[in-house]
Amino acid sequence: MSRPSASNTDTLSPSEGAQHMNIGFIGLGRMGLSLARSLVSKGEVVHVFDLNVDAVEKLEAQGARRAESVADVCQNADIIFTMLPGPKQVKEVALGTGGIIENLRSSSIYIDMSTVDVDTVDVLFQAFTAKNFIFGDAPVGRLAAHADKGESLFMLGIASEHLAKVEPILYKMGTTVYHCGKAGDGTRTKLINNMMVLCYCQINSEALVLAQSLGLDLNNTFNVLTSTTASNGQLKEKWPNKVLKGDLSPGFDLALGYKDISLASNAGASSQVALPVCDAAKNVFRMALASGKAGQDTSCLTDFWAEVNDCPKPRLK
Ligand code: NAD
Repeated sequence: MSRPSASNTDTLSPSEGAQHMNIGFIGLGRMGLSLARSLVSKGEVVHVFDLNVDAVEKLEAQGARRAESVADVCQNADIIFTMLPGPKQVKEVALGTGGIIENLRSSSIYIDMSTVDVDTVDVLFQAFTAKNFIFGDAPVGRLAAHADKGESLFMLGIASEHLAKVEPILYKMGTTVYHCGKAGDGTRTKLINNMMVLCYCQINSEALVLAQSLGLDLNNTFNVLTSTTASNGQLKEKWPNKVLKGDLSPGFDLALGYKDISLASNAGASSQVALPVCDAAKNVFRMALASGKAGQDTSCLTDFWAEVNDCPKPRLK
């Protein structure tokens, strides 16, 4: 992974001197709305589209330009971002009838920020470059709460010669950009990142349910766990603000978590790499979904295991 010298601090302003581009943004869900809002708040012209008209209207009221279709976005933008649930929606919007590839202007750039599988991102790269368009991927790291504050991290995959056009815009949505390599390497990095994040969800949940069952003071236990090498970002930054205070609104929807751990598991299968913990965690996500927890934050795994073990739900005081 190469790391451009001006791409990893909060203090530099890599956008200085960059050429102005009209931006298109498709997919205004939990993440996309916040990312696009950051662009609008920095004075960018952003043409936005989502199947959910409420989300489009919400952003229009804050200064975005409302688009009526994917084609409408493409006709008005020099660079287009998608932030969609997964491979199916991305392929539909990018390659389907009326999609980006049919409508992109000749000099425009397309960057997918969604979390998709390796095959999907490679198919997109081949399809767009075959038509002489610039394509890259920039999946997003950190929590939804970071996206709300313009503090996201981007795992950028794109040919080096296009970095100067794309990086300045990413810096208007976040604080950190890692150039992971060629197009598709952002997605490959993101799959590994999320495999670890989602395994931690399960480990944290087992630990907290055991602590509760042993009759420990959970506040003490939480302080210990987050002060030793047992700690992890999910436990430290997410758990106290979500399940441990009883807030199960997504953050990161359990169904999207299952999608991502399945993508990592499939990547292991297709490259013949054994991933025993990842595969076990994938099944846990499946079980929690089957118990009716779709639509809740991934931290709801803690409540799931409390229910399975007939123990009180762990909460901080
Ligand atoms: P979300 O489900 O909240 O939002 C998805 C949006 O896409 C919705 O508004 C939906 O209406 C829209 N959409 C679906 N199909 C569409 C289509 N054909 N045309 C236009 N709009 C369409 O999901 P999210 O949490 O915002 O996540 C988006 C992506 O980012 C996912 O790939 C997810 O894995 C990834 N991600 C999420 C987080 C997180 O914490 N939520 C963090 C990093 C990355």
